[in-house]
Amino acid sequence: CGIIGFTGELDAVSVLTKGLHELEYRGYDSAGIAFFEENCIHTVKTEGKVSNLSEKIENERNYTTSCGIGHTRWATHGGVSDINSHPHTSGKVTLIHNGIIENYKELQKEFEKNEILPVSETDSEIAAMVINDCYHGNPIEAIKSAVKRLHGAYAFCILFEDIPDTIYAIRKGSPLVAASSGQGSVIASDLVALLDYSKDYFVLPEDCIACLKKDCITLTDLNNKTVEKKMLHVDWDV
Ligand code: GLU
Repeated sequence: CGIIGFTGELDAVSVLTKGLHELEYRGYDSAGIAFFEENCIHTVKTEGKVSNLSEKIENERNYTTSCGIGHTRWATHGGVSDINSHPHTSGKVTLIHNGIIENYKELQKEFEKNEILPVSETDSEIAAMVINDCYHGNPIEAIKSAVKRLHGAYAFCILFEDIPDTIYAIRKGSPLVAASSGQGSVIASDLVALLDYSKDYFVLPEDCIACLKKDCITLTDLNNKTVEKKMLHVDWDV
């Protein structure tokens, strides 16, 4: 339902939790974040409010991270539970997803043949499994191959365990906007979550893979061509 991703000079856990609070108005039933710390990806997620998530984060310990993704879920496939909350991980891939993967049952059956079973009941975890299955060291190629197998609507933000401080994103039928500033690069499902960082932003074109690093965002289409960003500007204050 709500998506926020950040990589840059600020404390990413604070950026993500602030962003999730700003996206609360969309309605949701669970919330979660995943972030890089000491060459690992950590995930904290829970059913319920973003304030429950903040408590859970604080109760665990003080995290130091400059890159992560955050999600508020509006359950469509699989009940409301901690396990079904996003982010979802499969192998080296951790992702958040807005939308619906229509063919997830068929995909799940394919994995079952090889005795690879999901831990949640969500369509989103199956998408993580497909991307991980396609990942052999090149994230752009993995995403390109995976989206050919995924039918439906999606906005994904994806972390690869062996590519620190980098967020990949792609969308089809679900919104994503992004911006870069001196503080870092940020991506979200809604402009309200970007405006603290920049008033110059762009809409991620469909079928285009965004790669967010702290000092730049690059766009690549499904033919490996670099895509120019069409910058937009908002001049209202929030
Ligand atoms: N279909 C996914 C789920 O049920 C994503 C829902 C959403 O957009 O929040 O987990």
